Amino acid sequence: MTKSVLIIYTGGTIGMVNDPETGALCPFNFEQIAKAVPEIKEFGFNIDSYTLPQIIDSSDLQPTVWAELCQIIQDHYDKYCGFVILHGTDTMAYSASALSFMLSNLTKPVVFTGSQLPIGTIRTDGRENLIAALEIAAATIEDRAVVPEVCILFGAKLFRGNRTTKINAESFDAFQSFNYPPLAEIGIHIHYNYGAIDYSPKTAPLSIFTGMNTHIAVLKLFPGIQLDLIDAVIHTPGLKGLILETYGSGNAPTSCAFLQKIKEASVMGIIIYNVTQCQGGTVEMGRYETSRELLNYGVSSGYDITMEAAVCKMMHLLEKYTDANEIKKYLNSSIKGEISVNHIGF
Ligand code: ASP
Repeated sequence: MTKSVLIIYTGGTIGMVNDPETGALCPFNFEQIAKAVPEIKEFGFNIDSYTLPQIIDSSDLQPTVWAELCQIIQDHYDKYCGFVILHGTDTMAYSASALSFMLSNLTKPVVFTGSQLPIGTIRTDGRENLIAALEIAAATIEDRAVVPEVCILFGAKLFRGNRTTKINAESFDAFQSFNYPPLAEIGIHIHYNYGAIDYSPKTAPLSIFTGMNTHIAVLKLFPGIQLDLIDAVIHTPGLKGLILETYGSGNAPTSCAFLQKIKEASVMGIIIYNVTQCQGGTVEMGRYETSRELLNYGVSSGYDITMEAAVCKMMHLLEKYTDANEIKKYLNSSIKGEISVNHIGF
């Protein structure tokens, strides 16, 4: 049977072309993709496309779009060997992180890509990105996907989605994964990093959990932060989770007044997650006096998680579980390869 890949177009720069009459950018019709990128005809597999009813600049993204994407993947799972999601770059790392948590028992590639220049412009990076993403989405060895993960293809690299961050608003290498090696490097050939790809056995069929509890906050520490600000954040009505963006290896002020606020939040039942402001390296709670106190208040360690993955993981767990201890257990562990320790999966 001929292999097929489904392109799901959500919006963003990649799907734009110049209207020859007005010169303005307008959305591209992906039904016509073979006309714009004729190379894809040589692949020898079938390519279908699906455009979301409402295409968006990804700055307008809402978690409902993640649910929509999961549903489309589940509905079309048996028919396609892989999925390519065309997405704006601004929030692509959030979407890839979110889908990694929402999809369970994934055995097929879900490859996010986009571009810095519209696909309809001469120097576009969209063509290369799209071609490589399609090749990876269709790649199999002995009928099994080479990359059965949610990932981001951008420039010359394929990254695990929940390890990726947008680091540059202009460069064709707009994404980076600071704490996990690339899953593949794209040159004349695609070199897969087999040791980094998740091949853990999946015996159950694909399942999706699309609920997200958005009652969370991210509080970035800085010298001079006012207690009133912390107070306002922790007393936000309905707040369930707080991501504390700490210094270095997870450090925070040791003043009684600050710690009192953390204790207050914890006593109110707010789940607190310690994520470092550094892009590389990991939170090590207890290494310094300045983080040991946080442990005493039940703050969970984000280890080397990205902020994008932390936000999505927190929203996912708060919706999926009600028991605080269970939520903390999963926050402190790797569930989809998003941190480098304690893999328990689920
Ligand atoms: N603002 C655009 C978006 O994220 C930028 C891009 O497509 O890269 O949708």
